[in-house]
Amino acid sequence: MNNYAKLVYEGLKKESPWEKEFLQSVFEVFDSLGPLLDSNAKYEKYRILERMAVPERVILFQVPWVDAKGQIQLNRGYRIQFNSAIGPYKGGLRFHPSVNLSILKFLGFEQIFKNSLTTLPMGGGKGGSNFDPKGKSDIEVMNFCQSFMRELQRHIGPDTDVPAGDIGVGAREIGYLYGMYKKIRNAHESVLTGKSLNYGGSLIRPEATGYGNVYFAIEMLKTRRTDFDNRRVMISGSGNVAQYTAWKIINEGGKVITMSDSNGTILCEEGLTHEKLEFIMDLKNVQRKRIKEAAAKFSDLKYFEGQKPWRLAKADAALPSATENELDLKDAEALVKGGCICVSEGANMPTTPDAVEYLLANNVLFGPGKAANAGGVATSGLEMTQNAMRLNWTSEEVDHKLRGIMSCIHSACRDAAEEFGDHDNYVLGANVAGFRKVADAMIELGV
Ligand code: NDP
Repeated sequence: MNNYAKLVYEGLKKESPWEKEFLQSVFEVFDSLGPLLDSNAKYEKYRILERMAVPERVILFQVPWVDAKGQIQLNRGYRIQFNSAIGPYKGGLRFHPSVNLSILKFLGFEQIFKNSLTTLPMGGGKGGSNFDPKGKSDIEVMNFCQSFMRELQRHIGPDTDVPAGDIGVGAREIGYLYGMYKKIRNAHESVLTGKSLNYGGSLIRPEATGYGNVYFAIEMLKTRRTDFDNRRVMISGSGNVAQYTAWKIINEGGKVITMSDSNGTILCEEGLTHEKLEFIMDLKNVQRKRIKEAAAKFSDLKYFEGQKPWRLAKADAALPSATENELDLKDAEALVKGGCICVSEGANMPTTPDAVEYLLANNVLFGPGKAANAGGVATSGLEMTQNAMRLNWTSEEVDHKLRGIMSCIHSACRDAAEEFGDHDNYVLGANVAGFRKVADAMIELGV
């Protein structure tokens, strides 16, 4: 690691050694910025790394709400406004019991570079709560969301900070959050993305992260003159990102052989059909049940309780789309042994650092999340543009723009990596390209 980067990283580690996920994401970025920092003394002169690794603002608040039994419940709410150099803060809200400051800081830090890569004017932010929507009634989720927004609304706005969904925050939660914002502020403004089509959402936004990841992976595969046709593809997760990744892979002629949830994995050797996938989508989105129910319905699906997909079968590609650190070194070794040529991250930081290193060393095309899953936030940017213009683009128009953006991100990563002599290293490329724009803007904007 470059000396300046090392000094800043060690300082952060000393300050808050317990923020493991955050430190992991900072290490990954700082480590690959070495060649850029070596040849650009200005970043140290302006103390860009220090300024980039500390959020501009962290908001922590209590979220009291009343459950179905009339009992008072209390959760923590957070919003990390990380960096606004190139646009209003933008990034999702995560509702999951594991949410803490370290996880949200890692996600917010990643978001700075991801948003920069989209070419759209969006700064980086992230937020959420340790609230668990699982097993809660719609009314309980509404009570929680309304209380969460009662406080959050003071800190966000269409030109200040525009949250969206993430794990545990889908169309239902965005609806309740937006409804409360509108009541309090008496304004219909583009303050959240991922909205339903009935009140200002964009076509293709639900599909965008999954579709975008497949578009990015297609660009990577093209560099090796191949594609997804007839390829065996492992997907983890069965939420928003996983569902539309699977849908697009099937459209591309690929075989989706796995999907999972936090309880286990289903394996389908012949590849899921759209019909089976629709059943899974209904199971997860409407019935809010476990994925093992899909194996009970279809005889050609096998269910593996407590297992992740990666070691269950051989695959040509893996698209992790559930959560952070879900693909480790042993998983990577199994993937390489099984002939995997491409890993593209739908989730944020799903691959552990040693697994990334192993995949790169074994010539596997590796798309890091900040580039590969940027299609979601890019389409959120397109939702903001449509709201500002007060018009709606068609599915074809949004999908076309999404595909163009993913292709541009792919080229930007490759060009930046090539500049430093390693054209297949998308980790290096994404970090350099994402960082440079924000860092240069920070210098231009003064301290
Ligand atoms: P959802 O809540 O829709 O789905 C999450 C999926 O991951 C579910 O299948 C869930 O299982 C599983 N999961 C969650 N936590 C764990 C865990 N600790 N171990 C195993 N499985 C887990 O979220 P999204 O699909 O929106 O998000 C998935 C990933 O993609 C996240 O990393 C998110 O940050 C990232 N991402 C999302 C974007 C978006 O537009 N939504 C944009 C860019 C990145 P279960 O049903 O059991 O909870």
